[in-house]
Amino acid sequence: METQGLLNLAYLIAAVTFMVGMKMLGSPKTARKGNLIAAFGMGLAILATIFLHDKEVSTLVYTLIFAAIAFGTAIGWYIAVKVEMTKMPELVSFFNGMGGATAALIGLLEYQHYTDSSYKIAMIVAGLLIGSISFSGSMIAWAKLNGTMRKPLRLPSYNVINIVILLATLALAVFIIINRPDSPVYLYALFALALLYGVMFVVPIGGADMPVVISLLNSFTGLAAAFGGFLYDNMAMLTGGVLVGSAGTILTIAMTKAMNRSLSNVIFGAFGDTGGSGEGKTSGGTVKSINPSDAAILLNYANNVVIVPGYGLAVAQAQHAIHELEELLESKGVNVKYAIHPVAGRMPGHMNVLLAEANVDYDKLVDMDDINPQFKNTDVVLVVGANDVVNPAAKNDPSSPIYGMPILNVDEAKNVIVLKRSMKPGYAGIENELFYNPKTSMLFGDAKDSITKIINEVKNM
Ligand code: NDP
Repeated sequence: METQGLLNLAYLIAAVTFMVGMKMLGSPKTARKGNLIAAFGMGLAILATIFLHDKEVSTLVYTLIFAAIAFGTAIGWYIAVKVEMTKMPELVSFFNGMGGATAALIGLLEYQHYTDSSYKIAMIVAGLLIGSISFSGSMIAWAKLNGTMRKPLRLPSYNVINIVILLATLALAVFIIINRPDSPVYLYALFALALLYGVMFVVPIGGADMPVVISLLNSFTGLAAAFGGFLYDNMAMLTGGVLVGSAGTILTIAMTKAMNRSLSNVIFGAFGDTGGSGEGKTSGGTVKSINPSDAAILLNYANNVVIVPGYGLAVAQAQHAIHELEELLESKGVNVKYAIHPVAGRMPGHMNVLLAEANVDYDKLVDMDDINPQFKNTDVVLVVGANDVVNPAAKNDPSSPIYGMPILNVDEAKNVIVLKRSMKPGYAGIENELFYNPKTSMLFGDAKDSITKIINEVKNM
């Protein structure tokens, strides 16, 4: 009894640390500490579960548990330390998938122990269903983010096929909950169907819709874990799952709003119905290129400069260099800000994380809605490895796959300098008419290299 009380206390402490940690993740200044506090709570919950439960466990089982924890920790640690910043989004997707797989495995293993309770079987089936979809969907998202699966793949009438698979999956789930069959065959069939649905659900979605799908899958994993919490009456698991699920849902809503899309539109009418990646109008026209010295002159004599970071900033690892340029220009009386598009980069908040790593003052980061009216009064916009998020086709070209997505209106500024290596398109695979705008000058080359050259030129002025 006393042990049970201690166990509950440990779970309560863990649940509180999750909430405090989550709150602290809201600001870059406290995020690191918040992460550590929540990790401490998770460690406490795991150790309490192992040592304070009421079942007899042999030494062999303890050994296996700790061997598995050591093995998992070593792999997780190694991956986290080694991962390049540009591979972070795929890693997040991969880890999210692992969370879903764990929830599904709980269902597969526990089913046989609870066939006498409809409520418990309902929790098991719900966790298995959602966890499996999250697992296979996240694996497809992972392949899309790392470039293995670049283009959305759409079977003819894919919506009809997907709805049929989903209905069959739900029907089987209801059948299992009502009949609680002794044979696990039905459960394995449900597992297979849910995995198939996860694949079919994410495969057709592409281009600029990926951020929405990633946050949606994130919320699925949280939800699946929460059902595990109900199954075991485990407060820590329940709170953790609910927090991840609700945070993912809020993020999904924020992302759909940022993309000017409805969730059903993302799922059933993916970007690309108007043509798919690589299509849309071709701009043609001439491209004006500029050298670092002329770019430095433009920046040095400007009053207001806005830097637009994009995925290329992460690839070039140019966050420290851009911060140095920002400080240099500020020291010369130039007013410098950063314009943050909600889907710039490859994961929600990617640019914020990158710039925080370089100690860029958070007050200098301005959200899309606040910076857009300011471009008219901006002398120079420096686009660093961004492409889709500044593509005016989203406003002007109804045939473009990204038509309707809100963008940073950099074409309203007096001058635009774009730092990229070539004329190649960005993630959505479409050409950018901004590069042909007479106001735009292209500085070709690796962003870090180009910024370093600009810094040297500005220093010599
Ligand atoms: P984009 O992918 O549109 O463009 C990035 C650009 O960076 C490329 O055109 C590339 O051009 C350039 N680049 C790459 N490496 C370098 C380098 N070393 N130096 C200089 N430039 C470089 O990025 P955006 O940030 O503008 O847009 C994000 C896109 O990703 C959107 O379509 C979004 O929907 C999608 N997405 C976003 C997610 C999120 O959660 N944020 C998740 C999944 C997808 P070049 O090769 O010529 O150098």
